Amino acid sequence: LSRKVEMTNWEKGHYINYKGLSENLSIVRKRLNRPLAFAEKILYSHLDDPHGQEIERGSSYLKLRPDRVACQDATAQMAILQFMSAGMPSVATPTTVHCDHLIEAQIGGAKDLARANDINKEVYDFLSTSCAKYNIGFWRPGSGIIHQIILENYAFPGALLIGTDSHTPNAGGLGMTAIGVGGADAVDVMAGLPWELKAPKVIGIKLTGQLSGWATPKDIILKVAGILTVKGGTGAIVEYHGPGTETLSCTGMATICNMGAEIGATTSLFPFNDRMYDYLKATKRTAIGDFAREYAQELREDEGTQYDELIEINLSELEPHINGPFTPDLATPISKFKEAVKANKWPEELKVGLIGSCTNSSYEDMSRGASIAEDAMAHGIKAKSLFTVTPGSEQIRATIERDGQLKTFEEFGGMVLANACGPCIGQWDRRDVKKGEPNSIISSYNRNFTGRNDANPATHSFVASPDLVVAMTIAGTLNFNPLTDTLKDKDGKEFKLKAPTGDGLPSRGYDPGNDTYQAPPEDRSQVSVAVSPSSDRLQVLEPFSAWDGKDATDLPILIKTQGKTTTDHISMAGPWLKYRGHLDNISNNMLIGAINAENGEANKIKNILTGGYDAVPAVARDYKKNGIPWVVVGDWNYGEGSSREHAALEPRHLGGLAIITRSFARIHETNLKKQGMLPLTFSDPADYDKISPADKVDLLCTELAVGKPMTLRVHPADGKTFDIKLSHTFNEGQIKWFKNGSALNTMAKERAS
Ligand code: SF4
Repeated sequence: LSRKVEMTNWEKGHYINYKGLSENLSIVRKRLNRPLAFAEKILYSHLDDPHGQEIERGSSYLKLRPDRVACQDATAQMAILQFMSAGMPSVATPTTVHCDHLIEAQIGGAKDLARANDINKEVYDFLSTSCAKYNIGFWRPGSGIIHQIILENYAFPGALLIGTDSHTPNAGGLGMTAIGVGGADAVDVMAGLPWELKAPKVIGIKLTGQLSGWATPKDIILKVAGILTVKGGTGAIVEYHGPGTETLSCTGMATICNMGAEIGATTSLFPFNDRMYDYLKATKRTAIGDFAREYAQELREDEGTQYDELIEINLSELEPHINGPFTPDLATPISKFKEAVKANKWPEELKVGLIGSCTNSSYEDMSRGASIAEDAMAHGIKAKSLFTVTPGSEQIRATIERDGQLKTFEEFGGMVLANACGPCIGQWDRRDVKKGEPNSIISSYNRNFTGRNDANPATHSFVASPDLVVAMTIAGTLNFNPLTDTLKDKDGKEFKLKAPTGDGLPSRGYDPGNDTYQAPPEDRSQVSVAVSPSSDRLQVLEPFSAWDGKDATDLPILIKTQGKTTTDHISMAGPWLKYRGHLDNISNNMLIGAINAENGEANKIKNILTGGYDAVPAVARDYKKNGIPWVVVGDWNYGEGSSREHAALEPRHLGGLAIITRSFARIHETNLKKQGMLPLTFSDPADYDKISPADKVDLLCTELAVGKPMTLRVHPADGKTFDIKLSHTFNEGQIKWFKNGSALNTMAKERAS
């Protein structure tokens, strides 16, 4: 195992360390002395301290050393801005950035791409120059969707990847543990710090039998989503195993892992097998495939592995499914779908069919889809509904252009969109229906929440395999089952579509297409990062100031929030996405969705300096201008939702000192600590009720010590001063973050000394 095999063809000097991983694993094996799941093997072989780390599935926090980091363009902006403020010359862990989310679908690939290059120029310039500066691989707009590029170029069996996107698990199709994280976690790993993950439980899914006819890998995950629901995978890795796994293509396995994000799973994973080897070979990585074969016994589960939950699916009996509308776990087998359409009064006419995206745009998907389109055209008919094709990468686009599938789709009536997210993430200038008009669309994507595709809450969005999408598009209605129903040919004669066929891999190899990769230059010292001082989308971050070493006295309570305060309430998405790279501008959404306990209203709080009511960000800015730090008082599970670091950066930027709640969502609590804030909880949750929004408080920061409570001295607006106890979860290292002003300041300070 001590051979030198590069992790990827795009970088030099980053070798696959199966030897080191196997050594770590044998340390953990001795300690645990039980059979290990494949997911456990990958995680435990990446432990920062395999000797000392406490390991209990579902409870301990693992400190891990990922092999790679991947960021998409919407999340990369703030991640890189933060990384820059740590003052390091280059990333400590191999990292790539992918331009895919900011391209809007309107009239077709080339023109849409040109428009995006124009609209997003300053963001792309910033990403391109900062990647060059800090030794990050940069995939330009048009290169494709992050997860497809990772599968084609970077994923390898037994590796650990974190990515700032929820569908990062796609790489599980190549036996990689690939986990979606927030930007703050990515910054830590880019800077060389270990990454923390609660040791996941492992759900086993045993596959037997073999798919045939219209059933595809997508139908496996559509069925699993129906069984486990959108919450069923929370805190767990879903691990597929059993003889059925050998029968699936590598890209099909990636589809399954990709959509595993819809059941809330930490990630999903397949064991290394010959199909993965074939894919590695087809993508010019035979050396990796050969090396993985040497390490193969650790690239699957041990015999006798105990799963926390076990599900069995016989692929020979699996029916194609359609999931939706509005939620990806509402699974209906195709044989029951017509009934469901009628019973639920879903709009029967199918307006648009959309294939591709990061979930389903493999060569196999495109070939099978094209075989159905060809069958229809041989009978003289074409798509009845509008039809779009989103290639997942430039390599896929160029290959299906060379091999003819793209032409087939165009003749069939399809519009080929840019190699980007487009309608999957609402980047779709849809014109065929009016906002609010009920209508149905079906896609081979993964997520179908209300309004996600076209911002129309009345759009009924269904997800299915690309095969079913193409078939239903021909029929133009949801009342069609291609397995049993007939269509009318150009002469009105009835015919049945043939079951789709298609190659898993291109027999002539992949065509790389246009060169869309920007490697970091050898000499990076002369590169300067492009951020215009007048930009409203990007802003260089100034390091936060260090703690002054004193207790804080006479602090106003900016807002006492009541009920749920999620990260959406703290830092809304939607139109604010545009400002993800500009901390000052995005701070204008701080807490605007939170409910003020004083008046039950959102974004209306009292400014103690003026006595008037104003928006939350405006009052915070006024306090900051006057040099007055403030605190927030919150209810249970404050900060639940996403891991977005903006929800912690914004209160810090606008002068907040502490967030005091009944309890925190763990990731948000850590994010606050990282930004140098004090997340504190009432030792007695009933004390929440003792505080009125008009009170002033002293926070005895000098008491901050591991495992000790802190005092909050409350000066009620009317009444006698009293003390209450606050708890916290700071450890020694995190206390330094507070003292130095942030985790990044601490890192910069420690590097300098
Ligand atoms: Fe996310 Fe859709 Fe883009 Fe995939 S195609 S990365 S699911 S937005």
